[in-house]
Amino acid sequence: RADQPRVQVLQNEDYRRRRALRRALLEGLPITLLLPLALLILWIIVSAASRSLRGVARDVASQDERSPTELSLARVPDEIAPLVGAFNNLLSRVRSAFATQRRFVQDAAHELRTPMAAIGLQIENLRAHVPAGEATERFNQLEAGVTRAQHLIEQLLHLSRQDAPRVGGANERVDIEVLLRDSVSQLMVLADARRVDIGFEGGIAAVVVAPVAELRSVFDNLIDNALRYAPEGGVVDVKLHQVEGHAVVDVLDNGPGIPQAAMGRVFDRFFRVPGAAAGGSGLGLAIARTAAERHGLRIELRNRTDGPGLMARVHLP
Ligand code: ADP
Repeated sequence: RADQPRVQVLQNEDYRRRRALRRALLEGLPITLLLPLALLILWIIVSAASRSLRGVARDVASQDERSPTELSLARVPDEIAPLVGAFNNLLSRVRSAFATQRRFVQDAAHELRTPMAAIGLQIENLRAHVPAGEATERFNQLEAGVTRAQHLIEQLLHLSRQDAPRVGGANERVDIEVLLRDSVSQLMVLADARRVDIGFEGGIAAVVVAPVAELRSVFDNLIDNALRYAPEGGVVDVKLHQVEGHAVVDVLDNGPGIPQAAMGRVFDRFFRVPGAAAGGSGLGLAIARTAAERHGLRIELRNRTDGPGLMARVHLP
């Protein structure tokens, strides 16, 4: 009303701005202080969760149909526990499917072994009664076919045993020179049958820690191949020596070698180079490589440059 006194307060612009700024700072302070703390807590939580996720991923990556254990649920966050449970379930179904398949191959090969051995014996007995000429030639083909089938059955049995979760027995310190001498003398029968001159050259000490049967299967298969693919009357050399400071075993033959185009596939199961000599199963190199890789050995195949033939080199661990 007009008769009432009026008070007018004057604040200058500068003063008002400073007040507003001070208030804003006071109100923003707690947020400014709390924000880094909140971020730190968030970071700790997220990195703990992702650490356990990474742990689970590592566990999953290390599993295959042969691993005996399941993924542990112990340190898994609750949110992904059902996923890990489902994965374990899937893993156990895959394992049992593999086991069934393995058993089938093993049983089939095992059941075939006896009748095939009987056929082999019958053929041997028959030899004396085969008339000379074309009949003998046919008879020889038949005999080669039976030998090949017997070899295939043995390799299949070997393969199915190799695929089983626990293979080869316990680790031991294996003297490679002793092992190679043993291998060569066992395969001497095959060398004699094909009139192949097989030689062994040792000289360096090499010890590998692995089940002896597994190592035998690596070298036996390579030497067996060399003896089979070398020509009649050919030469096979087995050498244990050092190359660039590392111990290697070379198996050299003077056969046809492997065409470059097939090099990438010869380790595949059942792969045979078209036109390769009869008597093989296509499983030998696959078996050798599986056994080698399991114990830190590496097989390298190379055609020889100093003449015809293949060099199979095993790099020892
Ligand atoms: P196989 O029982 O047929 O010999 P492998 O798996 O041992 O089966 O070998 C696969 C293929 O690689 C063979 O079929 C053959 O063509 C080729 N091979 C392996 N070793 C040799 C070798 N020493 N010389 C020539 N070819 C070879």
